[in-house]
Amino acid sequence: MLNLVLFGPPGAGKGTQSAKIIEKYNLLHISTGDLFRKHLSEGTALGQLAQKYMDNGNLVPDEVVIGMVGDKIKSTQGVAGIVFDGFPRTVAQAEALDVLLNDMKTPISGMVSLEVPDEELKTRLMERGKTSGRVDDQDAAKIDNRIQVYYKETLPVASFYEKQDKLAAVKGVGSIEEIFGSICGAIEKLN
Ligand code: AMP
Repeated sequence: MLNLVLFGPPGAGKGTQSAKIIEKYNLLHISTGDLFRKHLSEGTALGQLAQKYMDNGNLVPDEVVIGMVGDKIKSTQGVAGIVFDGFPRTVAQAEALDVLLNDMKTPISGMVSLEVPDEELKTRLMERGKTSGRVDDQDAAKIDNRIQVYYKETLPVASFYEKQDKLAAVKGVGSIEEIFGSICGAIEKLN
């Protein structure tokens, strides 16, 4: 199986590129942000719990995220692999994911990290906010907080995979097709 972590700060293009990767390599897409937004729109207890964190751009507690991803992976069968988008976002989540996947004997093949300067991220998120309807995309202070949370809590996840020799950094600026080409180049070097 080809199990990828598509990594990067908010606004790096993970959602856009995930859609292209899953189509080309026939993979399942697991975006924890999308899963939480689905819970929110369905008004589930999990959605209500997540909302206060999401609205302010803070992370939902690890045990909630890990439980949700574990359920999703266990209910999935017969796929060629999985693209994880927006997960893991803490080292505790990365460790839990390793345990889940090792139990299933399908470890992470690699992490592709999209690198985009902060100013570009802020511009992209404000632009997305005009059409996404996401409250966390429409407020400069919330966007700043999400970027700070990324540096403080999420960036150490890159070192976690680097230590396993699984990290590939890709320039996340340019046309969607150019960036996709770089990602495919990194994927094809895996294994
Ligand atoms: P995203 O769509 O990936 O930008 O995620 C939107 C929001 O959902 C984040 O700002 C967090 O509040 C929450 N979220 C998504 N994925 C995670 C995760 N792996 N860990 C904690 N919170 C998450």
